[in-house]
Amino acid sequence: MVSLACTLSTKRPLYRDIETWRFSINTLCSLPLDEIKGDNTARNVRAAIFSEVNPTPVIRNPKLVAVSEDVLLNILDMDPSISETSGFVQFVSGEPVTNSTPLAHCYGGFQYGEWASQLGDGRAHVLGEYINSKGERWELQLKGSGRTPYSRTFDGRAVLRSSIREFLCSEAMHYLGVGTTRSAALVVGDDPVLRDQFYSGHIRTERAAILLRVAPSWFRFGSLEILAHRGELLQLKMLVDYIIQNHFTDINALELENRYVVLFGRIAHRTVELAVQWQSVGFVHGLLNTDNMSVLGITIDYGPFGFVETYDSKFVPNCSDRAGKYSLDKQLDVILWNLERLAAAFEPFFNENQKIHVSSILRMLAGYGRRKLRSLMRAKLGLITDVEEDQQLLATLLSMMEETGADYTMTFRQMALIHPDSMLDCDVLRNHWALSRLMCHEYYASFVEAYKRRLYSEGDYNDMERRSRMNEVNPLYILRNWMAQSAIEKAEKDNFSEVMLLHKILETPYSENCEAERLGYAAPPSPDAYRLRISCSS
Ligand code: AMP
Ligand code: MG
Repeated sequence: MVSLACTLSTKRPLYRDIETWRFSINTLCSLPLDEIKGDNTARNVRAAIFSEVNPTPVIRNPKLVAVSEDVLLNILDMDPSISETSGFVQFVSGEPVTNSTPLAHCYGGFQYGEWASQLGDGRAHVLGEYINSKGERWELQLKGSGRTPYSRTFDGRAVLRSSIREFLCSEAMHYLGVGTTRSAALVVGDDPVLRDQFYSGHIRTERAAILLRVAPSWFRFGSLEILAHRGELLQLKMLVDYIIQNHFTDINALELENRYVVLFGRIAHRTVELAVQWQSVGFVHGLLNTDNMSVLGITIDYGPFGFVETYDSKFVPNCSDRAGKYSLDKQLDVILWNLERLAAAFEPFFNENQKIHVSSILRMLAGYGRRKLRSLMRAKLGLITDVEEDQQLLATLLSMMEETGADYTMTFRQMALIHPDSMLDCDVLRNHWALSRLMCHEYYASFVEAYKRRLYSEGDYNDMERRSRMNEVNPLYILRNWMAQSAIEKAEKDNFSEVMLLHKILETPYSENCEAERLGYAAPPSPDAYRLRISCSS
């Protein structure tokens, strides 16, 4: 995050109405813009990074579904009461705003391994930038806000169910400690949207929703790729320089010659670290196309994502991904492949030596990812020191989970609750639903013995300390599909209370919460919960 104004220590008052809140100077407009303005007909846009085009507001009875008080307060300097004003709801609904120059971004991407050419913001508009009282620069974007030149044959809209899923999950990921774009507010209107949710020929009328989301930047790998593929090197250079100047300020100070190699290395490492974090909390993005990969290494574009429940290394949340291309166990490899595509986009700027350097960065990334993952997984077991044999211990645990169908999240959480000396006591295990599955495995007893040996080998053993270490990294509450689905079904009947309740509970995913326990958020899901399907339709 760029601190543009470290000296800005005087506290600004919080904004209570949107009419007095203002965007900061729009620096994105300094990048090459489409010569055609205000025209949202689908077309190929050349030599431009953005098109100026206005949102199409949802107009029929727009209502606020959810709001993130933390984003309003701590990112946008808004008093949360602002969300009760009609001006705020209009703002999120896509109504015109003073001093905003709405922009739709031109990007491309590799989808399922194939170059898809121009994609772009087909239903999103960056409204502007805001430098907050901490000196942080954030970009505000609407998603679902109508057609743009990048909409292709689509309608520019987003439906309520997918918007609720993105709102909840992006916020949940933030509180899990995983880098992500944030969600500020969500509005739904009665404007009809037609969707064939499972591509089965069953078209349903749904309601249009608009999500106000914020991120330091919305640039993706595909932002650079489209320019490189088209040979628009001047525009590519301007974009890369912009990214360095605004998001990697320390590189800006470097000598000109190597800054692009350093930038690539930085993006690559951040992205691998992100994939490893996903893995540690059992998150599967679901659609790891290069247009959905942020240059900042944060989670972006929540679509057919899911958290693995009964552990399955081949878990695929997206029912449209029949080949399992983006399964849980493939995420790191896919990210590495995506990074190779990104390196290819940078290639016009590299000399021979730099190309060799970049190849060596790429070669080292897999090992880097494995090491990072091992260290996160070790922490999940409450281990402190780095011992080679932990790899085996972890592999045994995961394969036992897979073979017994134990719940990934709750296995780790419940391992913290039981003293290692009681981990073979059936009476104790019976009260812990995830572990009582795991204990059925033939290797369970030998695993426990190995785990105990390993824990006690670290010196003075303190079980309370192990428990608190483990509880800091093993969440108790994740956004399970059935939880999101239950909130969505109520919201579709205009009852938004469960969306807000889930949002609240997922703000503290590592701490026990009475309300969450009452609602069974850490209890065994019903068999029906596992049958829910998620598609790309959104
Ligand atoms: P996604 O699958 O959400 O990553 O989107 C891939 C591309 O399809 C992006 O260019 C989106 O803007 C575009 N897209 C997806 N849904 C729509 C829609 N309903 N209207 C316009 N463009 C869309
Ligand atoms: Mg996308």
